[in-house]
Amino acid sequence: MFLFNRCKHDDCQLYAADEEEYCLQHVDDPESCAARLITKIKSNNYLQDLNASSMIVEDEDFSNRIFKVCNFSESSFRNVDFSKSNIELSFFHYSYFEHCNFLGVDIKYAVFAGSTFKNCNFSESDIVHTNFLGVKAWDCSFDDSDLYYSNFTNADLHQVSFVDCNLKKTDFVGSTREEVSFKYSNYEEAHFQQDTPI
Ligand SMILES: [Zn+2]
Repeated sequence: MFLFNRCKHDDCQLYAADEEEYCLQHVDDPESCAARLITKIKSNNYLQDLNASSMIVEDEDFSNRIFKVCNFSESSFRNVDFSKSNIELSFFHYSYFEHCNFLGVDIKYAVFAGSTFKNCNFSESDIVHTNFLGVKAWDCSFDDSDLYYSNFTNADLHQVSFVDCNLKKTDFVGSTREEVSFKYSNYEEAHFQQDTPI
């Protein structure tokens, strides 16, 4: 699916970082490479085919961007503003998000599987066909959002709020939910149990 090249380091299965021959773990100077990637994101509104996996990002403004076929897997984001961004076909699996703002985002066909979210705000957003498989989330809000066909299978959700959401075909099968609110949402159209085989 990605057009990225593989890292040239022997036996490394990771993709090379954007404009590099090696992944972020094997480039000569990972710190300046990561800084260059952050600058690139901040100075471009439209980002496509960007490989930035294993990034550590703190206190940055990534709002109002378009991310198309970008890879941020196994990254860490603290206090990062993604508000009003458009994220399509992009990958954030096995990542860590703390105090991140996704207010008013438009996310389609993205993958956050295996990620951890602490104190993140996804409210007033369109987050459709997006994969949150097995995520762990604490103190997060998805209020006033459209979560059509998004998948929270096996997610571990604590104090997560889904107030006034469209949950049509949203999947919560096998999820653990503690202090989770579905107030004013059409949760009867979501899936909470595996469909019984005929
Ligand atoms: Zn590598």
